[in-house]
Amino acid sequence: MSVFDNREYDNHEQVLFCRDPESGLFAIIAIHDTTLGPAAGGCRMWPYATMSDAVYDVLRLSRAMSYKNALAGLPLGGGKAVIIGDPLKEKNEKLLMSFARYVQKLGGQYYAAEDVGIGVEDVEIFAKVSKYVFGLTKTGDPSPFTAIGCFHGIRASVQHKLKRDTLKGLTVAVQGVGKVGQHLCKILHEAGAGLIVADVNSEAVAYAVKNYGAKAVAPGVIYTQEADIFSPCAMGGTINDNTIPQLKASIVAGSANNQLDEARHDKMLHDRGILYAPDYVINAGGMLNASGDIFGEYDVNEVMKKISGLYDVTLRIFETAQQEGRLTSEVADELARQKITEGKVSKK
Ligand code: NAD
Repeated sequence: MSVFDNREYDNHEQVLFCRDPESGLFAIIAIHDTTLGPAAGGCRMWPYATMSDAVYDVLRLSRAMSYKNALAGLPLGGGKAVIIGDPLKEKNEKLLMSFARYVQKLGGQYYAAEDVGIGVEDVEIFAKVSKYVFGLTKTGDPSPFTAIGCFHGIRASVQHKLKRDTLKGLTVAVQGVGKVGQHLCKILHEAGAGLIVADVNSEAVAYAVKNYGAKAVAPGVIYTQEADIFSPCAMGGTINDNTIPQLKASIVAGSANNQLDEARHDKMLHDRGILYAPDYVINAGGMLNASGDIFGEYDVNEVMKKISGLYDVTLRIFETAQQEGRLTSEVADELARQKITEGKVSKK
């Protein structure tokens, strides 16, 4: 099957396959759309089982970046990169610099940052050979900002679904207490919510139990917990045929990218009366912060104002979906596409 036939292809402007035998690099850079500005999105390093898994992932993630940046009001397009390999065993400076040389050759069409398997220190290595990077030590770790955005998205979900303006007394089941999940637990705990957490990393679970009074459960049973909100903050695809029937929560809202295994899973949630907060809308906080590196201006107070605006964006999506009898993910996608089209028209 060619890349053009991939079901996630969606008219990507450019897909670059990068191979450097000397460093061992196998990478793909996908540029979905540059109407609103240069494509910006993280670089993921992951041991994909097959090349088609990597192509599928990079295309899906890259389109989500176009939509995320458009709805966050950023003058940026969407792109993403994947380096194929195990970050724990295969990541080294030579490989990272080899990847960054491809980014540099694109001449600013794509800006790379951290993602799963790639940290701020790795982006610093990219920066040795490419100026088209962001999410550096200047703007810091994006995770706390992503968590704050998610919190606003959860507040909007609670307002819309439960008609409540506080999280006090509600229970949130958090799947994955890594960089974002841990910060989110802190904010939710301070807001008076009860927490149930699961993670394959027992130390991370112990931290949330000790510091935020969370109840720990095994990863396999997090879906079935008596909670008001289910918050996926681990990997993508966890909202699927198998897990949706298990959910007791009436809201799904978290940071993970591509939470719905397939687009049709929003319909399944809707049919069960579960409200879905589109992932790329509520997890844009880190991007709003890190993009300061691209524009060369950074004011944390301005960033926080923009992040709190995600509450209104999310609420507007819910209200439109309800009025028009549509799915929240469809409405979000349509709004994002509209913003991109408006950008196209104004450029003419
Ligand atoms: P992370 O790697 O720090 O945390 C992920 C956590 O999930 C880890 O603690 C891991 O052990 C756990 N996990 C993995 N598989 C699991 C399973 N089956 N069950 C339970 N826990 C499991 O990553 P992060 O930076 O916190 O990001 C979390 C998610 O949010 C990712 O999907 C990421 O793409 C997305 N995201 C992150 C940011 C950001 O600013 N970091 C921004 C946007 C989106």
